[in-house]
Amino acid sequence: MKIGIVGMGVAGSYLLNQLSRDHDVTAFERYPLKKFQCVCAWGTTKDYIRRFGDQCDIDIDEHVLHEGRTLLTEVAGMAIKSELFGLVSFDKQGFVEAMRKGHKVRYDSWINSEEDLKKYDFDLIIDATGLRVLLPRIESYELRIPCVQYRVEYEKPPFEDFYVKILDGMSGYLWYFPLEDGIAHVGAGDLHRGHMKAVEGFFERYGGKKQKLVGRAVRLCPPKYCQPFQSGKVVGVGESIGTVFPLLGEGIIPTLECSELLVRHLDDLDEYRRQVLKKFAFYETCYDFLMPVFRGEMSMSEQASLSAAVFSHMWENQARHGVGMTPTSMSIDPKALFQQAMSIARKITL
Ligand SMILES: Cc1cc2nc3c(=O)[nH]c(=O)nc-3n(C[C@H](O)[C@H](O)[C@H](O)COP(=O)(O)OP(=O)(O)OC[C@H]3O[C@@H](n4cnc5c(N)ncnc54)[C@H](O)[C@@H]3O)c2cc1C
Repeated sequence: MKIGIVGMGVAGSYLLNQLSRDHDVTAFERYPLKKFQCVCAWGTTKDYIRRFGDQCDIDIDEHVLHEGRTLLTEVAGMAIKSELFGLVSFDKQGFVEAMRKGHKVRYDSWINSEEDLKKYDFDLIIDATGLRVLLPRIESYELRIPCVQYRVEYEKPPFEDFYVKILDGMSGYLWYFPLEDGIAHVGAGDLHRGHMKAVEGFFERYGGKKQKLVGRAVRLCPPKYCQPFQSGKVVGVGESIGTVFPLLGEGIIPTLECSELLVRHLDDLDEYRRQVLKKFAFYETCYDFLMPVFRGEMSMSEQASLSAAVFSHMWENQARHGVGMTPTSMSIDPKALFQQAMSIARKITL
């Protein structure tokens, strides 16, 4: 098949690598080669991304920057320390560049519609833009959280390991992800647009030399609401069709899993759609759980079963997400926990 891939993030780069083995593939990326950047905090679970690296003959260990041991989470004045199971920061940019090595990529090519690619006469065009540039817009359920992030250099880093602060109103969070040699990604995302203020507050408190600022929104709308996945010759993959875990804004591994499904079902795109919906069905539960939290409307009757489903998922999948969720892998100050429980109880309607 003659295939065009638009977007050289993690989805597009993986697909370029895998599909070029049996097909004639050309890729397009809006950034010029020397200005290409992966806007992301570069956190992932090492044992889960390893498989995708192996498929592309890339050793993930060579790209790991920091191996996490503990995550400190601050929420409403409460500090929770969780044991980590394989959460790392890695050189995502180097990783995706290695996937693309030796393959046909046209950099500095901003593609806005299927029409822009007409002269290539592709049999299939893959929308791996994250933004969903070539597919119809999502009207009803779209949810994109604006984010901002700095690469920061510290003489004396304020934290040794991963740190996250849940923002007031529970509508987003701030992250500090250590990279290497005193460098960290410091960023925040907030539905209510308090992300910039949160990051500036962090700098006022902890200092640091800002090296580079990036920003983009992350889509939390699950695949079910990102349909259609296909239009004309175009098929979507990755964040373009909502493969981001809504609770964490974690999209690297889900996007690779989605891309792998596309490779497997390239000759049957209806089956691809069914498999994506099945694989990411739980993201709808997370979305339904989050929306009332974002609106500040928590109802005991509506939220109880959703909360139970979400927490049991996190509990059962702690190895997948790399973060300990069982009582034995977390430590919380009991007094702060009691105060927090009372404050939530006061807000809940029966
Ligand atoms: C600030 C931030 C931090 C994040 N941190 C993490 C994290 O630590 N861990 C994690 O798992 N997930 C994280 N995510 C989510 C994760 O980065 C994405 O969900 C995932 O990378 C999506 O991959 P993708 O290939 O589908 O899209 P993208 O990574 O967005 O790649 C899309 C590519 O398409 C290109 N493109 C876009 N439009 C066009 C066009 N018109 N023409 C040509 N090219 C185009 C872009 O330049 C880009 O290279 C983060 C997201 C944000 C915004």
